[in-house]
Amino acid sequence: MNQSPLHIGIVGAGPSGCYVADALGRKLPGARIDVFDRLPTPFGLVRGGVAPDHQGTKNIARQFERTLGKEGVRFLGNVAIGRDISCDELKAAYDVLVITIGALEDRPLGIAGENLDAVYGSGRFVAWYNGIPDGRDLDPKLDGKSVAIVGNGNVALDIARLLGKTPDELASSDLCAHARAAFAAARIEDIWLIGRRGPLEASFTTAELAEFGELSQVATLVDAAALPQQVPEQFDAEQRKLAEKNLDVLKAYAARGNQAERPLRIHFLFNAAPIEIRGEQRARELVLARTRSENGRAVSGGETFVVPADTVISAIGYRSTPLPGLPFDDARGTVANAEGRVEPGVYTAGWCKRGPQGVVPANRADSLAVAELILADLATRQASGKRGGALIDSMLAQRGVQPVDFAGWQKINAVEVAAGQGRPREKLTRREELLAASRG
Ligand code: NAP
Repeated sequence: MNQSPLHIGIVGAGPSGCYVADALGRKLPGARIDVFDRLPTPFGLVRGGVAPDHQGTKNIARQFERTLGKEGVRFLGNVAIGRDISCDELKAAYDVLVITIGALEDRPLGIAGENLDAVYGSGRFVAWYNGIPDGRDLDPKLDGKSVAIVGNGNVALDIARLLGKTPDELASSDLCAHARAAFAAARIEDIWLIGRRGPLEASFTTAELAEFGELSQVATLVDAAALPQQVPEQFDAEQRKLAEKNLDVLKAYAARGNQAERPLRIHFLFNAAPIEIRGEQRARELVLARTRSENGRAVSGGETFVVPADTVISAIGYRSTPLPGLPFDDARGTVANAEGRVEPGVYTAGWCKRGPQGVVPANRADSLAVAELILADLATRQASGKRGGALIDSMLAQRGVQPVDFAGWQKINAVEVAAGQGRPREKLTRREELLAASRG
């Protein structure tokens, strides 16, 4: 490797971007690493996706702060790639470009009625309650008695749990003020949590499932007859462990007594595939096909039934947003790549590489693997003469874009924490407020 400073650009300051920055910074002392984000704030899903009542998970942000505050690393928030700077310009500036933009777009359900009022994808709904500036004005309709949540992953559970918590149970969260007000005003009586396959195939994890048992106003309703007695032989060890533990919790829910007085019922509905959302202007009911699980697939015999649904939230996974200038795998909804390599000098990691799967530690492993790949490729690097951040800074200045740097983020952080008054923080949710706070 030659001795000229190596310029590395990372697009996306979420967990994957921070892990890549950390790994490359350690192995390549002297490298200049710029980490961009379209938002004025760093940490991606740790701030904007992880449930506001899961503060323990958010502690990882402290480690990412250390990474972004390191010598040689710069945070450039409030810079949208594709709008303020193009991918081609980034490729011209940096020796290594790593795309870690996650997967922000909701996968469509692909059923009739999906465009009715009061139907939301989980990405938009979560961005709203987590105060992402371009999602905070969603103002979802939560004024009805019945909410249907489609999907049996942890995102579906996050949404159902937050809707099921009392204001007191949300007191130690950093749920944004506008969402606290909306949840407090809601008069939901029934939440239908809908899995198109059976309880053994659910992808949610046991700790998250068990949290419903602790909610003071929530009745957990499970049809005992819908629960299999045992886990089939063909499940591998990992699937078996998860399925058995989930089954134990669901059996305990099914056996629970004294739930009649609880004002909010969560119905765990399995083997129910959505086929239509009905309503005039807005959603009124969700039509479901009864299914059975065959070799891991949901098979319908044609029987349908209906649940009332004044609001429908689909939590069925995400797709990445194509970036002009980069190849896109439309079928998978990811940046097109081979094990993280996109094209010479361009790499990708995290959800935009693999699809929207895995918790933060899984993305750490993925980012470390991509960093190793980059290091191996760099072993044969020739001097490029690229100018890195200096070139980008001059372009941004010419275009009137003012990035938020790490010191700017620290100022935002201080304002939010001070406003928390007993909560972890009160987030600023408007771009202008964030930019003003970043300037101090
Ligand atoms: P997920 O775990 O992949 O769950 C998606 C769910 O949507 C699955 O139950 C899937 O069913 C269902 N689904 C997909 N297409 C459907 C359709 N057309 N109709 C009906 N159902 C459909 O995804 P996620 O919940 O979005 O979570 C993403 C990742 O983040 C996961 O790795 C998750 O563990 C992680 N996460 C973790 C936490 C936590 O640890 N607390 C919190 C949030 C998210 P099939 O299985 O039948 O396809």
